[in-house]
Amino acid sequence: MNEYSSKLLELAVGELSRLPGIGKKTALRLALHILKEEEVFAENLGSSIIKMRKEIVFCKKCNNISDADTCEICANHKRDENTICVVEDTRDVLAIENTAQFNGLYHVLGGIINPIEGIGPNDLFIKHLIERIHHEDIREIILALPATVEGDTTSFYIYRLVKEFGVNVTTIARGVAVGDELEYTDEITLGRSILNRLPFENSMKRS
Ligand SMILES: [Zn+2]
Repeated sequence: MNEYSSKLLELAVGELSRLPGIGKKTALRLALHILKEEEVFAENLGSSIIKMRKEIVFCKKCNNISDADTCEICANHKRDENTICVVEDTRDVLAIENTAQFNGLYHVLGGIINPIEGIGPNDLFIKHLIERIHHEDIREIILALPATVEGDTTSFYIYRLVKEFGVNVTTIARGVAVGDELEYTDEITLGRSILNRLPFENSMKRS
C-alpha cells in the first residue's frame, strides 16, 4: 500500500530517511521543502552531493578528506611539520581547527580499534603513521582520541608502536567537559586541552 499520493515522493523520502538522524517524518518535511523551492535548488543540491561523492579523495599523507592528493593542511608550509595530532576522523580535524589553537599537522585514523565491531589496527590508517615517522621530522605525536575504552585501547596501541622511535607522545588534557566525542566539546575547552597536553605516560598512571 502506498501511503503517499506519489511514488516519486515516496522514493525521495525513502532515500532521505537513510541519512543518519533523519526519520521518515523529517525526510518527508525535507522532500516537501525541496518541492516548494525553485527547481534549480534541487539541481544544485543533487549535483553538489554527486560531485562531492565522486571527486573527494583522501589526503595521501594524513588521510583527511581532500580535493587533491595532498590536503590543504599538509600542503601549508606555515604549519608546524614536527607535530602531528592523531584523530579518529575528519570531524575531529574540523573541531580542532575551529579552536585555532593548533598549528601542526594531523593524522586521521578513519576509526578506532573496536574488536566487537571487528575493527582492528589493519583496518585503520595506522601503518602510514609509522611511515611518516620514518620519512618526516616528527618530534611530537598528540593522541586526541575519544575518552572511551576503544579510544584508550587505540591510544595505547599507537603509543607502544611509536615510542621506540623516540618520538614524544602526548595526549590532550581530559578536562571536565571533554566528552566522548571531540566534535561535541566546546571550542574553548578543546583548545585549552590541546594547549595543556600531557605526556601520554601520565595519562596511563591516572587510569
Ligand atoms: Zn593531509
